[in-house]
Order: sequence, then C-alpha cells, then structure tokens
Amino acid sequence: MEENLSNLLNQTAAQKKLNADFLKRAKKKPKKIVDSLFHEEHEKVFAKIDCLDCANCCKTTSPIFTDQDIKRLSGLFKMKKHSFISEYLRLDSDDDYVLKSSPCPFLNADNTCFVYDVRPQACREYPHTNRKNMFQILDLTRENSLVCPAVASIVNNIRGL
Ligand code: SF4
Ligand code: SF4
Repeated sequence: MEENLSNLLNQTAAQKKLNADFLKRAKKKPKKIVDSLFHEEHEKVFAKIDCLDCANCCKTTSPIFTDQDIKRLSGLFKMKKHSFISEYLRLDSDDDYVLKSSPCPFLNADNTCFVYDVRPQACREYPHTNRKNMFQILDLTRENSLVCPAVASIVNNIRGL
C-alpha cells in the first residue's frame, strides 16, 4: 500500500473513538441526508484513490462467497463446486463461505484480481459507501474504516456532520 494510504489508516485507527461516536450520531440523522453525504464523499475520494496502489481489502479481509459466486468461480477453474469450496473456502460463524486464507489467493502480485470478471458480488460492492440506506451498515462502515483508506477518508471528511 502506498505510504499516504497507509498513513490515512494509521490516523483513522488513532481516531477510532471519534469515528465511532460520529457513526453513532449519524444513525439518528435523516436517512437521505446520511446517504447523500456518503455518496458525495465516495465519488470525491474514489476520484483520487487508485485501488491498484492499495488492495488492502484483498490482502486482509475476505468477501462472502454466495452460491452464485461459487458457481461462477468454480466454472472458471473447471472445478466441481465442492472441490472449489474444499480448496479455498471455510464457513464462518454466520455460516457464510469466506476465504480460508488471506491475502486472497486470487490477488495478483501487481494488486490486480485474477478472477476480476467473475469476482464475488461482495468484491464488486466493497466498500459499500455508495449504496442506498447507509444507516443500515454504519457499524460495518466503522470496521471498514480500519481496513480501507478510502472509507477512512470518507468518514474523516464527513465527521463534522
Ligand atoms: S476475488 Fe479479487 S477482488 Fe475479491 S478479494 Fe480476491 S483478489 Fe480481491
Ligand atoms: S476498496 Fe479500499 S481497501 Fe480495497 S483496494 Fe480500494 S482503497 Fe484499498
């Protein structure tokens, strides 16, 4: 990860309590206002951050693999679904399939994704800061702010809400 992205995450870790308080307050704000603040900042931040300089999400966390994801990916590798599961996945405490190991085995050395065209839906949607009803995922957003420098930046920028 580039140094400035890494610095952003370190600053956010130091401001963990401020961010937690802010996200708690945001739960009480009108949903549309919360969405528009996040969406506007999402666009600004991702216009400046290049995920290929980072890949911290792929290096440190796992997406959830739905049945459809497993079907697409096992098809790509010409594997039976159960063989793909046994090679790469495990069930987590919520009974969702996640990667057995990190970094993600499909992450290339240059931070590109080997399975990009058929990657899991969760990878397509991460870090979720442009979705509707952000109020439903503010706890997840707080966790993601410690992993993703873009989320860290978005939360830092709108904390004055
Ligand atoms: S499948 Fe691709 S995008 Fe998803 S975690 Fe792995 S490397 Fe990253
Ligand atoms: S989504 Fe966030 S953590 Fe993942 S590569 Fe982009 S900036 Fe980094």
